[in-house]
Amino acid sequence: MEVSELNSSSRLRLKVLKGLSLGVGGLAVLVAIGNILVSQSYVYASFVMLYALYSWHVYRQTSKTTIFNGHKYIMSVSLTVLVIAGTVLKPTDTGVFFWTLVFPIIYYLLLGHKAGFLATVSLFLIQMVNIAFQFDTEQYFDMITMMLNFSFCYVTIAVVSHAYEINRVLAENKLSKLATCDPLTGANNRLALKHRYQALQDQQAEFHLLVLDIDHFKAVNDEYGHDGGDIVLQAVVNTMVDVAGSDNVFRQGGEEFCLLLEGVSHHDALAVAERIRKRIAKTPIFYQQRAIPVTVSIGVTQSEASKCAQEINRQADANLYAAKAGGRNKVVA
Ligand code: GH3
Ligand code: MG
Ligand code: MG
Repeated sequence: MEVSELNSSSRLRLKVLKGLSLGVGGLAVLVAIGNILVSQSYVYASFVMLYALYSWHVYRQTSKTTIFNGHKYIMSVSLTVLVIAGTVLKPTDTGVFFWTLVFPIIYYLLLGHKAGFLATVSLFLIQMVNIAFQFDTEQYFDMITMMLNFSFCYVTIAVVSHAYEINRVLAENKLSKLATCDPLTGANNRLALKHRYQALQDQQAEFHLLVLDIDHFKAVNDEYGHDGGDIVLQAVVNTMVDVAGSDNVFRQGGEEFCLLLEGVSHHDALAVAERIRKRIAKTPIFYQQRAIPVTVSIGVTQSEASKCAQEINRQADANLYAAKAGGRNKVVA
């Protein structure tokens, strides 16, 4: 699995933006031509043509690796302005107004549930006022019928869109958690580590890497069984999480863990490593009424802009092996 696959929301939004800019943008060209040739609505045709040009620009941007995040907002606002202008400038019976019903789906897919909800409610209120202005006072009954029918259709589509987006985000978060969490210890796994490395490198952030390995863990398994070993792994992670926070603790594999500390001084990173080492060494872990003595060795290294993740890891590993060679239960920086 690739790190980028963890963020399916942004990929979905990009696809929606691409589809909208191509599909609705292409349609906008036809609508603009129709408005010029058939109904001579030059003002509206100009609006629609501007939108088509903007769509073409966005469509070209969507094939690039990074895209300006504001496009999804500009796209939503410009489409909204078009449909509101269409409703104001054209009589209701031309049907431009029906496009309003598509908007809750577009808003939720493009903007997410919070901004999507706000946009959906705003457009609903604006279009209700628009309907009121479309009818004369003696057509009161027609106006009410139109408002009721519009409300039921719009609210139904909005509720379905809202429920879909909320469930999609919950499912995405759950899957992302499953994909990035080690089931035995609850620590973040190697995929999460890769994700975090990438984020740190993108931000060019300074960080410290602490690599921790349990001493003579094979002997623990031999003495207390695999289940006893598992309890030790969980207890070690609990201590690391207590000291450094759950977001920073990763299981690299087997009985080897690492910690990423962002924005701390070298002195503080060493202090964290020492605190973890001492706390594990002085707290026996209980399994079937027996106390298992556990110690860990820790290698610490500092990131440098010129070094890649592998190089930083290699340096931390070298320090870890120096700690092992130095007699274990040690921190080496
Ligand atoms: P050192 O002090 O040099 O690190 O020695 P060690 O015995 O800790 O190192 P070694 O790499 O020889 O042993 C690691 C052991 O960890 C071997 C493997 O069976 C055990 N192990 C790996 N994953 C798990 C796990 O998920 N649960 C348990 N209980 N044991 C595991
Ligand atoms: Mg070990
Ligand atoms: Mg090991």
